[in-house]
Amino acid sequence: MRIFAIGRNYVEHIQELNNERPDEPVIFTKPDTALLRNNEPFYYPDFSNDIHHEVELVLRICKEGKNIQEKFANRYYDSIGIGIDFTARDLQNKAKEKGLPWDIAKGFNGSAPISDKFIPVSSFKNVSDVNFRLTVDGQLKQQGNTGLMIFSFDYIVSYLSKFFTLRTGDLIFTGTPKGVGPVKPGNVLAAFIEDEKLLEFEVK
Ligand code: MG
Repeated sequence: MRIFAIGRNYVEHIQELNNERPDEPVIFTKPDTALLRNNEPFYYPDFSNDIHHEVELVLRICKEGKNIQEKFANRYYDSIGIGIDFTARDLQNKAKEKGLPWDIAKGFNGSAPISDKFIPVSSFKNVSDVNFRLTVDGQLKQQGNTGLMIFSFDYIVSYLSKFFTLRTGDLIFTGTPKGVGPVKPGNVLAAFIEDEKLLEFEVK
């Protein structure tokens, strides 16, 4: 399985990092070694002093496809989970200044904690109106709604499939809302879809 991720999909997050609004989705990937499951702790790495949380909804692909038309894209994902796109902001900023790839800033070990539970798409009334949030030590840090995405789930799946054959089990991180910020050892992160807590782990 692969992990795809979308950068700059929420306007207010683009503004907080002084980035440009993209005409097409910004795509990057993480290796599967980035995954953290079962609420395992995240070990703060020694190569960064500025690891940021980015809470994101995660789509799970349920069917192989390429060149998928947007109108059929909803057949290719069946469930939504939640994850953190941990980002070494210091390494990312250095790479951005030089126009270099973000791989080490985004794909390092443990940079993709995800919920064990994924909620079937069929149980949402409207996937364009899903609320999600992140708390750190019980305090609300990020709050999003899929209605605020620049690129919808269907558009993202269609767009990605032009370049990459999507396969069952692939995951897509769909972008973070505003409120990203640093974590430090001792923090407990909890992520919710609507009012259900799906992910909770400690930074060590
Ligand atoms: Mg992100």
